[in-house]
Amino acid sequence: MDLGAKREVAVVFSFRSPGRYALTTLTGAIEGADDLRSVTVVHPRNTAEVIACIGEQLDLGREVIAGWSFYSPSFPECADELREVRAAEKRAFLAVAGGVHATAEPRQTLDAGFDLVCVGEGERVILEAIRAVRDGRPPSTIPGCARLETGAGDVVKQEARPPRIELDQFPPFAPRHEYFGPIEITRGCIYACRFCQTPYFSKARFRHRSVENTAHWVSTMREAGKRDLRFVSPTSLSYGSQDESVHLDAVEALLARSKEALGPEGRVYFGTFPSEVRPEHVTPEALALIKKYCANDNLVIGGQSGSDRVLQASMRGHDVSAIIHAVKISLAHGFVPNVDFILGLPGEAVDDLRASVNVMRQLGELGARVHAHTFMPLPGTPFRDAAPGQVDDETREELDRLASQKLLYGQWKLQERVAAEMAERRDQSARGYGSAVTVVSPSDDA
Ligand code: SF4
Repeated sequence: MDLGAKREVAVVFSFRSPGRYALTTLTGAIEGADDLRSVTVVHPRNTAEVIACIGEQLDLGREVIAGWSFYSPSFPECADELREVRAAEKRAFLAVAGGVHATAEPRQTLDAGFDLVCVGEGERVILEAIRAVRDGRPPSTIPGCARLETGAGDVVKQEARPPRIELDQFPPFAPRHEYFGPIEITRGCIYACRFCQTPYFSKARFRHRSVENTAHWVSTMREAGKRDLRFVSPTSLSYGSQDESVHLDAVEALLARSKEALGPEGRVYFGTFPSEVRPEHVTPEALALIKKYCANDNLVIGGQSGSDRVLQASMRGHDVSAIIHAVKISLAHGFVPNVDFILGLPGEAVDDLRASVNVMRQLGELGARVHAHTFMPLPGTPFRDAAPGQVDDETREELDRLASQKLLYGQWKLQERVAAEMAERRDQSARGYGSAVTVVSPSDDA
């Protein structure tokens, strides 16, 4: 073998929702790497296309890295897709999985047939994986990857994670491939809501994209003819902050520069899909800022429960009165509040559930819309071992009533089923092998 020869590499991203945001970001990371300009990246949108794309790239003599990114609910369908692809394409390719589920459950993910799991954020890992394949080095030992070592006992070996990125180091999307999306302005979260994967995946610290870097990418969007700008953030009004405080000067700088860069035709959306705001951050001053610069007529507010006891047990960091106050002042400033609620959180007794439903009705009657979810015991969270959320018949009827009055929406019924399946998989995994992972080298940034 000529060790000096570089191989041609193609990356095939299974471009299915909701992993598209992450895969768009990774495509942007590849675009931004000068030494990887010759790498082909393709984005098939269904299983037949994944099979066809991998086949075409192999026919061209390229080494193929196939990538999936998924949350816990979509793990089974991605695992099924890989099985179908392997059945159809017998030639070798490297199947890599990333995202919050793979990070929290590397063993389960590797057992599903993926060759490598990217543990944590993927920008550096995908670049190093491509370079390793291109240079003929084993990609399994690059920092941030977990792999299954078969043999006595089949153990998962995980290389220590690389240092976490700063958002300014990487593009938020992939302009050369004409894939645009919301700009991630904040990664990680200092709050520690016990049901949420974000702080456990991306570290309990905020990392913000700078105003100037954001404006640069907004200009790129504008040059491509894009007019609507949305942001990704775990808590929009935390922009520029490192703690619970709100820095409206930083938020204003971001919105003003973004609007300027987007031009007079552009529309900026903030504190709404695909992001949200925490209720205690909603103040008249914050709303006035959003009104001044943004086009949204609604806000997404994380409420989660109408029981103070449940909010406290979930470490939400606010109480029910904060939710009601946020809704009232949002309405007073002309925003329709969409308030997230989670049904069946651990420790939620019947009284708590009744309290939640009462608050939902109260908010609905004020003019808000309730977005109902069912609790899922997500891997990697403190609630991972809890029972899946369930809704009793009386609550179910009341929720249906609210929905028929257009006061409530959401996939809570589907999520009830998904949560039960997720808990079943978790229990099966625990019976099978536990979750032990050997970290090969110590991380200074775990
Ligand atoms: S629910 Fe929101 S505020 Fe709470 S930890 Fe998750 S991202 Fe942060």
